[in-house]
Amino acid sequence: MPSPPAVHAERLHKRYRTTVAVEDISLTVDPGEIFGVLGRNGAGKTTTVELIAGLRRPDRGTARVLGLDVRRDRARLRQVLGVQLQDATLHSALTVTELVRLYASFYPGPVPADELIESVGLTGSARTRFENLSGGQQQRLSIALALVGRPRVVILDELTTGLDPEARRHMWATVEGLRDSGVTILLVSHAMEEVERLCDRVALLDAGRIVALDTPAGLVKRAGFAQRVTFRAASPVPDGLLEGLDEVERVRADGDLVAVEGHGELLQAVSVALVRAGVVATETRSEQAGLEDAFVALTGHRPEPENS
Ligand code: ATP
Repeated sequence: MPSPPAVHAERLHKRYRTTVAVEDISLTVDPGEIFGVLGRNGAGKTTTVELIAGLRRPDRGTARVLGLDVRRDRARLRQVLGVQLQDATLHSALTVTELVRLYASFYPGPVPADELIESVGLTGSARTRFENLSGGQQQRLSIALALVGRPRVVILDELTTGLDPEARRHMWATVEGLRDSGVTILLVSHAMEEVERLCDRVALLDAGRIVALDTPAGLVKRAGFAQRVTFRAASPVPDGLLEGLDEVERVRADGDLVAVEGHGELLQAVSVALVRAGVVATETRSEQAGLEDAFVALTGHRPEPENS
């Protein structure tokens, strides 16, 4: 028999009073994937993964993890699924080591406490009580606790929110190491760089629905352009000058700041046109389209800044 998908959600739906948080979400995650759930605040990401983890009851729809029905096979689910959610509340008077040992006692073959604490960079705080840890340290501990039972599927919600750049890179390496050991990861995020770097595929959520599901590169293609050239114009750019170029998809101007989106040899085409028209451009920059551009094109919103 073929092995079941790591996660299979079918037509999940969840309403809180007047808010429809999740509306008709279906997705399948293959074993060994890092699968991203991306969206702005309130898009329904946390509710989606809580439904997949069996922590909330859907109004409609089903979720399976490694073939287990998450509402009916809860005991077996606990042995294969690790969950790190935002704002985990833990016993505040216990130290890092005590909490890890407590969680380890729930599983038959847990990761040794010292090894796990080191893997999330908390060795120096092993004897610190939970209540005295910084926000970033609490975050790392909650990730350690999600991993203590050697889960085959892990849900990580806002993995690196609140972490400094070094801790963030450390956490990314930890996640990549998990993937290399065959663990499937469902990663909730609104950090573009994180999703672009880590995820094999991404579901982009907006207002409780999946608006696109693709590889990060596939999503970027849907931005509708490949490159953006920006510059300051010392004198007005003649109407239609840039719009008429084959390489140009769209031109936006905000005062003297001009952004041109397009493809091919865009920078060269724009530069030549400006020189011919006698427009002096300064602060010229050229960049490739990224996930953030796809996010804007597909949802109509700018993503929140990272760490919000
Ligand atoms: P964030 O990035 O801010 O965590 P999210 O994408 O994870 O957002 P959810 O937390 O799933 O989004 O919330 C989706 C919608 O459901 C939001 O409008 C939120 O206010 C609402 N919501 C979430 N949890 C509850 C709850 N327990 N009771 C009522 N409404 C809720």
